[in-house]
Amino acid sequence: MHRGYVHLYTGNGKGKTTAALGLSLRAICAGKTVFFGQFLKGSEYSELRAPEFLPGFTIEQFGRGCFLSHEPDVEDIELARRGLERCGEVLRSGTYDVVVLDEVNVALHYRLFEVSDVLGLLEARAPEIEVVLTGRHAPDELIEAADLVTEMKEIRHYYHRGVRGRVGIEK
Ligand code: ATP
Ligand code: MG
Repeated sequence: MHRGYVHLYTGNGKGKTTAALGLSLRAICAGKTVFFGQFLKGSEYSELRAPEFLPGFTIEQFGRGCFLSHEPDVEDIELARRGLERCGEVLRSGTYDVVVLDEVNVALHYRLFEVSDVLGLLEARAPEIEVVLTGRHAPDELIEAADLVTEMKEIRHYYHRGVRGRVGIEK
């Protein structure tokens, strides 16, 4: 049995979630299965339609709208914790070849759960699973634990010129 590795995509430049989606596409095209869990996000993202196009691709969201405009409340915490539990089941079961925890770093940054919870899931996973963790503000403990760490560094972003997320490009 081959061993799976843990990827971590962080930094403030564009490309973290996109990279996880790109890896997922490649894995599906190689006949693998993918579980793509999205923390903090609730609907609105085009990748929610990926299962229509990609057999073997499962996506679930563990957030509601965009709470980043206000402080997370009990419902945000509850959704995130249930999402982490769901990811734990998926990681232990070994049903999927690739498991993505999109924006898990941001959930940690907002203290929706603890980094020790995430480390526990990684340790208890079926060893052949390839895991991808994304989101800005990755905590040092996760950087230490990952086998591959990439920082997307912003050189320039049209966000600062007022260009907000566009369907099919950012969402
Ligand atoms: P993508 O999903 O395009 O790969 P990403 O996953 O690397 O991006 P995230 O941090 O998850 O990046 O989300 C960036 C989104 O948040 C962008 O769609 C952008 O519109 C918005 N955004 C908010 N603040 C910023 C900022 N300071 N710099 C860049 N984007 C920002
Ligand atoms: Mg992202």
